[in-house]
Amino acid sequence: MTYDCIIIGMGIAGVSAAIYAKRAGLSVLILEKERPGGIINIIDNVENYPGIKSIAGPDLSMNLFDQIRTLQIPYKIAEVTKLSVVEDRKKVETNEEVYYARNVIVATGRSPILLDLPNVKELVGKGISTCALCDGTLYKEKEIAVVGGGNSALQEALYLSKIVKKIYLIHRRDEFRASEELIKRIKACPNVEFVYNSVITKVNEEEGHLASIEINNEKTIPVSALFIYIGYAPKTDFAKDLEITNPVGYFMVDENYETKVKGIFAVGDIIIKKVYQIVTAAAEGATAAIYISHQK
Ligand code: NAP
Repeated sequence: MTYDCIIIGMGIAGVSAAIYAKRAGLSVLILEKERPGGIINIIDNVENYPGIKSIAGPDLSMNLFDQIRTLQIPYKIAEVTKLSVVEDRKKVETNEEVYYARNVIVATGRSPILLDLPNVKELVGKGISTCALCDGTLYKEKEIAVVGGGNSALQEALYLSKIVKKIYLIHRRDEFRASEELIKRIKACPNVEFVYNSVITKVNEEEGHLASIEINNEKTIPVSALFIYIGYAPKTDFAKDLEITNPVGYFMVDENYETKVKGIFAVGDIIIKKVYQIVTAAAEGATAAIYISHQK
């Protein structure tokens, strides 16, 4: 079978695309390699989506999945390994099966970047984490560190501040790039110590668990955990042969979110753009799906 539209990724951008495509009468398949919701799963609370005052990330993810099922949109849990063009169709290879479509909307999102230091990869799950929501409670009443100065670092540090005894918030500059609102809220936390103009130069382990971090090659801070929020990298390796991504893997798209390969679209956190928000990802998914439905 050749689908009108295959959507890769069941985060907010992919689900939004699927809703609009299905309601426009297109034959749709949505593929997801892990779990619905993508990065939303590891967000403590979403408070900036219109109409929803506050919702836990995992609950919003579950709502997305419920909507897919309610609308009877076919879905498969499978990892896409290659996207290519075969004559006038798009070929989507997964670890399970191969699918064909006239159009593909890629909405695979991004994954957290780790510090590029020895031991870091090995200590993930042993004191190093990129998910406060998943691992925060392990460090109740402990002293921990959070690294980063963007919205993610400050938002997750806020969440952790309610659980742990003390947070060292380590940032390489003396100014945060996060929103004013988050900066105001984190500065009001009595158990957060701001460590500005500082880079982590070493992570030390004891008995297979993180024990301390070294700052600027001079000072050692004992911590039970380090939460890393220094940005995200796009998950777009499967499309690299098409040459529609930039050197660091972000898709280049036009105003309809179409790449230079006709019929291949990209939406959400994996495209080059200025604003990476849940609300913009949803709008981009809808725009691409509506554009495709108008072509039919
Ligand atoms: P980000 O905005 O790219 O911030 C990354 C932070 O990590 C920056 O402060 C950066 O420092 C620092 N950093 C980068 N590489 C580093 C390294 N090797 N060592 C130490 N520090 C390093 O990433 P993000 O906070 O994950 O946010 C990603 C996007 O999602 C943003 O557009 C953000 O607005 C959005 N977001 C929004 C919300 C919300 O609206 N509530 C929540 C989360 C994320 P410099 O500042 O010096 O570059």
